[in-house]
Amino acid sequence: MSLTYDVIIIGAGAAGLMAAIEAGKRGRKVLLVDHSKKIGEKIRISGGGRCNFTNLHTEPSKFLSNNPKFVRSALSQYTQQDFINLIKKHNIKFHEKKLGQLFCDQSAQQIVEMLLAECEQANVEIKKEFNVKDVSKYKDQYLIISEQDTYSCESLVIATGGLSIPKIGATDFGYKIAKKFNLDVIETLPGLVPLTFNEKILNICKELTGLSVEAIVSFKKTLFQEGMLFTHRGLSGPSILQISSYWKMGQNININLLPKLNVYNFLEEKKKSNPKQDISTIISDLLPKRLAQIICNENKVSGNIWEISNKALREISEAINTWVIKPIGSEGYRTAEVTLGGVNTNELSSQTMMSNKHKGLFFIGEVVDVTGHLGGYNFQWAWSSGYVAGKYV
Ligand SMILES: Cc1cc2nc3c(=O)[nH]c(=O)nc-3n(C[C@H](O)[C@H](O)[C@H](O)COP(=O)(O)OP(=O)(O)OC[C@H]3O[C@@H](n4cnc5c(N)ncnc54)[C@H](O)[C@@H]3O)c2cc1C
Repeated sequence: MSLTYDVIIIGAGAAGLMAAIEAGKRGRKVLLVDHSKKIGEKIRISGGGRCNFTNLHTEPSKFLSNNPKFVRSALSQYTQQDFINLIKKHNIKFHEKKLGQLFCDQSAQQIVEMLLAECEQANVEIKKEFNVKDVSKYKDQYLIISEQDTYSCESLVIATGGLSIPKIGATDFGYKIAKKFNLDVIETLPGLVPLTFNEKILNICKELTGLSVEAIVSFKKTLFQEGMLFTHRGLSGPSILQISSYWKMGQNININLLPKLNVYNFLEEKKKSNPKQDISTIISDLLPKRLAQIICNENKVSGNIWEISNKALREISEAINTWVIKPIGSEGYRTAEVTLGGVNTNELSSQTMMSNKHKGLFFIGEVVDVTGHLGGYNFQWAWSSGYVAGKYV
């Protein structure tokens, strides 16, 4: 059997599968390899098992990167509508959950099966449990050395993803290969990840575990208004996951627990209109009771609102409308949905995803310094960057 291919793709996740399909359709002889036993595990567990496969509002502003313009070309060459058309072609039923987020009605496994069916049709050869020992370049060929054999190819695509969830196969392989070929790698950090706090705040979170509120969570000028969840480890929920991708160690985040109400104006008004009402009853009408009680206790206010000074009312209002807290860290790659940073986009062509220094070497998907917001944007980046590479390999 010949061990020479036109294209070898390392990493059979979202981006690798997409690149393989497009390259195969062009008649390229494609080998797609993965060290895992199962293909597309991250797709299968994504979106709570229903895969939030894209977002109707996909546009460059929904992505973080040292070079924010880099994503434009790939996102326009393969759009959210292109992926929706593929889903429709395979009769996979889907729905918009909220904010343009599209999910499968039934199961994320349908997406994996769809991609595998497309690979088969495009004559892509797939090898699982394939361990790459080394990669090198000889003349204009890339050599992939496995435990048993040496494979060669004209185009090598690195699609090994980021570092999140190591227990389902994440490795730093892609970054190592980039460094080996002298490409710059931007420091990696966990993104879309729950945040952790010092003992005082942690104790509050523990008492409120399971409680979810709609909140605006902000860091500097970036803000997100979505659900926020108290957990026994700290804070989570969409608004916290989103801000975690922007937050910098040692700095504060700001939380507005009642985005629709100026609490101080409201309490001032109450003091006039209903002076005998108990402050904890008033706050409990605004927020879940457990949270209201903790806020009153922490701010040491009780009794009739009439008896409470305006200064104390100001403080309790601020605790609700502008709760400023300093995370001490995050839950890390164990639970992070994505990895920030990665192969510096300055090293790659935005039109093709090929390395500027090494003809025939491509990087796609999460291994690249492109990270989407929560809501289907990360898969869209994987589809778009995979498609683009597949067209040029
Ligand atoms: C729990 C969870 C839920 C998520 N939900 C969503 C969601 O609903 N919507 C969304 O848009 N995004 C979601 N994401 C993010 C999304 O899954 C990733 O951004 C996306 O999968 C990245 O695609 P990729 O192909 O670049 O990498 P991956 O999908 O991670 O694929 C990389 C592949 O490379 C293989 N690999 C790694 N190292 C090696 C090696 N040394 N040799 C061979 N193979 C290797 C891995 O086994 C894997 O199959 C979620 C992430 C997590 C962790």
